[in-house]
Amino acid sequence: MFDLIIVGAGPAGATLAARTGGLKTLVLEKRPLERPQRAGDTEKCCGGLLAPDAQRVFAACGYALDNALLCSPQTFLVRALDLNSGLSRAYQRFYANMDREKFDRFLFSRIAGCDVRTGCTVKDVRKTDVGFEVEFLFQGRRYIEQGRFLACADGAGSLLRRKIDPASRRTPLYIAISQTIGLSGREAPFYGSYFDSTITDYYAWTIPKDGFLHFGAALHPGANARAQFETLKSRLIRCGIPLDGPVLRTQGAYLARPCRVSQIVPGRCGAAFLGECGGFISSSSAEGISYAIQTGLLLAEALRAAGGDPQNALRRYERNCAALKAKCAVKMVKGRALYHPLTRRLAMQSGLTAIKSET
Ligand SMILES: Cc1cc2nc3c(=O)[nH]c(=O)nc-3n(C[C@H](O)[C@H](O)[C@H](O)COP(=O)(O)OP(=O)(O)OC[C@H]3O[C@@H](n4cnc5c(N)ncnc54)[C@H](O)[C@@H]3O)c2cc1C
Repeated sequence: MFDLIIVGAGPAGATLAARTGGLKTLVLEKRPLERPQRAGDTEKCCGGLLAPDAQRVFAACGYALDNALLCSPQTFLVRALDLNSGLSRAYQRFYANMDREKFDRFLFSRIAGCDVRTGCTVKDVRKTDVGFEVEFLFQGRRYIEQGRFLACADGAGSLLRRKIDPASRRTPLYIAISQTIGLSGREAPFYGSYFDSTITDYYAWTIPKDGFLHFGAALHPGANARAQFETLKSRLIRCGIPLDGPVLRTQGAYLARPCRVSQIVPGRCGAAFLGECGGFISSSSAEGISYAIQTGLLLAEALRAAGGDPQNALRRYERNCAALKAKCAVKMVKGRALYHPLTRRLAMQSGLTAIKSET
């Protein structure tokens, strides 16, 4: 019997697992994060931009970004293109452009004093008299482990949240499709954000990384998401965005986009929900790393203060999350203005906070 079982060792789960103190903790993770990435490994589909909020919590953890985790170039410009109005503006931004897989491996490397099992896929979870039992697959065999407290950090499409809290209002999910495209010697020294309300009420982006351009779009899940992705890509090529190079890789992932505070749920039925599993993410920019790390820190603090009492820890964690929920609510309001074609056009027309750029 473990004191704590953590499912998922992305930024949320790994941050918590590095701070569990004297608790007997089991960490279950699908990806082989204990070793360098190899071709064919499952990887987290992500833009890999570390936003200023994420830089702040990362620094607060006592961590520094090694050069080896960074990608080239580090650019400070975002070009926004609104395909509805035809307006384009440049804005200064301070993201760190990094390799997300290496970043996750760095956070994972900080886990200490836990029983860590990678290559495990959690398949089911059940409530018991004393806590939870978690069923998972490892090398084709089924295993069951018991824990007094459960921390679910398995990301946007969380199986655990669906199992534990089937009745609650789920956080709406988008499907993010992302391609790695060869630049064929051309330059793209800026991040791009693209809006086209005939395709999606969210956005698409380009991020240059080590000689390739990563093109992603957040779309409503459904049969025609891929076709819409291709339509948007063709439109952007016609606008001069260099997306016509060879496609090296296409990936997809769920992306949570809460539109009501009630969809952000820190926990239920004695289990805590961390990071995107709990709906903690900005619904205006899709920046989720800072929220994931922060929920990991907040739960670690709650567990410490509760002296290992699971119910008390969950209550404290829910309270600790209030400010983060409020921040998500502000992002929802910002998102509504940004993604409404009229307010976006007015904001871009005004040129407020925009900079002149020669690119
Ligand atoms: C396309 C895309 C681009 C994004 N770009 C950015 C960006 O540039 N900057 C930013 O800040 N945010 C970005 N985000 C959001 C960010 O990636 C997430 O919000 C953040 O990773 C959430 O962290 P997490 O720890 O909650 O979940 P995750 O990072 O999703 O980690 C969940 C972990 O759980 C594991 N897992 C899942 N299911 C199981 C299971 N059944 N059994 C065992 N293990 C399991 C997974 O392998 C994973 O390691 C992006 C998201 C997407 C989809």
